[in-house]
Amino acid sequence: MADELEKSFQVLKQTIPLLIKHQISAIPTNYALWYTYASNQSAPLNAEVDKLTVNNQPISAAKIQELYRQHLADTQEVEAWQLRQTVEAMLIELSQSLGDTRSDTQNFKQAIDNRLSDLDKVEREGWSVEEVMQLVRSLVKETQHVKRSTLDFTAALSSAEKEISELRAKLKDSQQNALFDALTGLYNRRYLDEELKVMQPDKGTCLVMVDIDHFKSINDQFGHQMGDRVLKAVGKKLKDSCRDNASAFRFGGEEFAVLLKDSKLKQAIHQAEVMRRAIEKVSVVDRRTGKSLDGISASFGVAEFSGAMRRSDLLEQADKQLYQAKTLGRNRVMPLG
Ligand code: GH3
Ligand code: MG
Ligand code: MG
Repeated sequence: MADELEKSFQVLKQTIPLLIKHQISAIPTNYALWYTYASNQSAPLNAEVDKLTVNNQPISAAKIQELYRQHLADTQEVEAWQLRQTVEAMLIELSQSLGDTRSDTQNFKQAIDNRLSDLDKVEREGWSVEEVMQLVRSLVKETQHVKRSTLDFTAALSSAEKEISELRAKLKDSQQNALFDALTGLYNRRYLDEELKVMQPDKGTCLVMVDIDHFKSINDQFGHQMGDRVLKAVGKKLKDSCRDNASAFRFGGEEFAVLLKDSKLKQAIHQAEVMRRAIEKVSVVDRRTGKSLDGISASFGVAEFSGAMRRSDLLEQADKQLYQAKTLGRNRVMPLG
């Protein structure tokens, strides 16, 4: 038991620096994810994180949430238990330090103070770290308390328990934070925004904006429900044509976006062309009439993120190209490859 406590305490000490290193806001989901990473409990999670962070590439907040869902959401109980164990471990450690030499308590305080000053730095730089700050701050308070008087261990545990149950509630909340578009199941606009926030110039990031042609008339002719089914079918085609380096998003309405990584403009244009042809093959059967609706098409605008651009320029440029594709007659990719 003591070994286990010692181990989870060590993991906790590794987790906070990881949050700082990856400049990740310390909401409970992130915290739980990096705790799991630091404790090396899930080989697939560690492999995926290592792959994503190769060359020190940052990970977007949305990606972290997705990783959380994939690797941790099912084991929510376990991880709440782990968090609880960890905080308990810290408290036990604290209470033990009462009986230990003064220097032990001192070292422990020093360790936490160091983390705290790291966190302060992150806070000054504008990152949101409320949750762990709060946790760590309260632990520091506990530490000072240990030094001042005898610790009422039961009270400390119950306050830790309260903290943990709050964390657990927040874990549930953050899990429900939408990452996906409800209609198409694709990633949503918020997810795209998060991905765009962390992209770096000249790493081959390309954005493809996709807009279904004359979609309004599909709605008008066949009804909104059919329109929805067309959106689903087009979304699925886009998603299916995304390989490892690409992700598809519903941008809003009848607009989609595809984000490509490790891809030059020319390659991205080629991939967009493949998608354009795939969409031409979409066919949706009207359940009322039994007739199939085809002849669906979309226009594409492609742009590559370069050193000379601001982040917002990428979207603007892809949009400009999309507009060109529309003006030139739709059902085409711009710029020309
Ligand atoms: P263009 O070729 O120039 O893109 O023409 P368009 O008709 O596709 O473009 P427009 O922006 O005029 O119309 C888009 C339509 O998409 C209008 C809106 O009612 C419809 N729409 C937006 N979101 C949804 C949705 O979730 N479901 C359905 N069925 N229709 C939607
Ligand atoms: Mg549109
Ligand atoms: Mg349209």
